[in-house]
Amino acid sequence: MRIGLGYDVHRLVSARPLILGGVRIPFDKGVLGHSDGDVLIHAICDALLGAAGLGDIGEHFPDTDPRWKGFSSVGFLEEISKFLKERRLEINNIDCVVILEKPKLAPHKKEMASVIARALGLLPGQVNIKATTEEGMGFTGRGEGVAAQAITLLKEKS
Ligand code: MG
Repeated sequence: MRIGLGYDVHRLVSARPLILGGVRIPFDKGVLGHSDGDVLIHAICDALLGAAGLGDIGEHFPDTDPRWKGFSSVGFLEEISKFLKERRLEINNIDCVVILEKPKLAPHKKEMASVIARALGLLPGQVNIKATTEEGMGFTGRGEGVAAQAITLLKEKS
């Protein structure tokens, strides 16, 4: 078994779409980022890469590379899924938490989990998504940004 941890933060700004877990969420602000700024998927990518001992998302998909400009982060998951297969690593499960004040993510969590699971060839039950506010405190509480944490367990195929 190999465990991995991921964390990411992006700034919330006007006139950008809010994409979390590969799902576009209706809101008057969105995420600033070189790719689509999907903070949840970026945290999951870092957890998976970390568990595999493969560094971090910035090494594999640098924001200086024009290939990734406006790129859908779901594609990062598909790439990482290939890296894992090549190394005979299998995902046991992924758990994560999105930290933002608004909007409520409850209506979207199921779709987010199924988009992430599909990109990684998993069953929806292997991906768990939670959401929390920080009770008005800090940068997430003030609505300046959105953060996400993810953790995963990989199994080495025998
Ligand atoms: Mg990011």
